[in-house]
Amino acid sequence: MKGMIIIGNVTKKNIETKVVHGDKGYDPHTGAISFPIYQSATFRHPGLNQSTGYDYSRLQNPTREELENTIASLENGKRGFAFSSGMAAISTVLKLFSPGNHVIVSDDMYGGTYRLFEEIYKGYGLNFSYVDTSVVEDVQGAIKENTVALFIESPTNPLMKVSDIKALSSLSKDRGLLTIVDNTFLTPYYLRPLELGADIVVHSGTKYLGGHNDTLAGLVITSEEGLIDQIQLIQKSEGAVLAPFDCWLILRGIKTLSVRLNKQQENAIIIANWLRKHEAVETVYYAGLPDHAGYEISKKQASGFGAMISFTVRDVKLVAQVLEKVKIILFAESLGGVESLITYPIIQTHSAIPEEMRRKIGVTDKLLRLSVGIESVDDLIMDLDQALKNESDYKEVNE
Ligand SMILES: *Cc1c(COP(=O)(O)O)cnc(C)c1O
Repeated sequence: MKGMIIIGNVTKKNIETKVVHGDKGYDPHTGAISFPIYQSATFRHPGLNQSTGYDYSRLQNPTREELENTIASLENGKRGFAFSSGMAAISTVLKLFSPGNHVIVSDDMYGGTYRLFEEIYKGYGLNFSYVDTSVVEDVQGAIKENTVALFIESPTNPLMKVSDIKALSSLSKDRGLLTIVDNTFLTPYYLRPLELGADIVVHSGTKYLGGHNDTLAGLVITSEEGLIDQIQLIQKSEGAVLAPFDCWLILRGIKTLSVRLNKQQENAIIIANWLRKHEAVETVYYAGLPDHAGYEISKKQASGFGAMISFTVRDVKLVAQVLEKVKIILFAESLGGVESLITYPIIQTHSAIPEEMRRKIGVTDKLLRLSVGIESVDDLIMDLDQALKNESDYKEVNE
């Protein structure tokens, strides 16, 4: 049967099926096709020393459990955990470490993660080195005696550098480090880091998994028993859990993950190629362009390139013009939703990263980041075209 791989008596579903049907998929008690929102803080015990499996929603809630099992299944992990935001998820993972520990981190990364590491966790005695994780030797060279983990974003935000997750996971394993991958940009639809040897996957579910720019969420997935126990302990002790309604929104978003990403990527490839030919555009960063440095590794380890594009304009004055003139594309922070969004990393997503470091990695004042949505690609190109057009006032400045 198409879409199914039968292994012995186990039916292994393809990911397009898994996203639609989730874990249980429907409410086993009533048959409701839309998994119910169990809006209850606590649960009645049938008797002394008895439990329905649910005691108190900080510990576990049926709607959260459905989301946690769904994401675990999509990432091919044993256990998933849902948090109130991507940052809460990343923060939970950092609590696995102790004062004096050292973590190697991708130097081109989400600004909020950098801020969490430098402004919060440094104060608790953790140390971080920021290296170009697309160069395995650089990572190897950064390993110190007290290094405990490698934290990778791939493709990186905003410069779309691609890291070889298999090579890095194998290096980590040899040196006794944990490999943590922020898989927000590609999602398990395109990339499953645990299958490549990573130990922990984190997500900002706010982005592609939710997909509608309407909910904050974070997720952590792992297959290792020791890690499962520790993460569960941190989650229930700290309580930064995702609320039932928000779990339901993410579950609903995930149902259309494959069709959304297919369309977003299709649009992104067309737009990246169009931008590249535009006279006002200098450089286009998109992992799906065959001459992109990470193209081959992307093809090897992922089934898609995603729909995030960064580009630099030739004249810095065009930045303000583009941000003001776009009509369909919205000038807003965030990414991954059905609406196309454009951001200016140096003042938005990456403002927390010091100028010197931004300059070193190439996040300049001419760089814009585009999250491609599911609109008509013709309309998106028309919108970018009118926004990039030489205005008379723009011409004057250049004369
Ligand atoms: C947005 C984002 C985060 C943070 O997630 P929130 O849900 O905003 O807390 C972390 N990593 C990446 C790659 C992101 O894009």
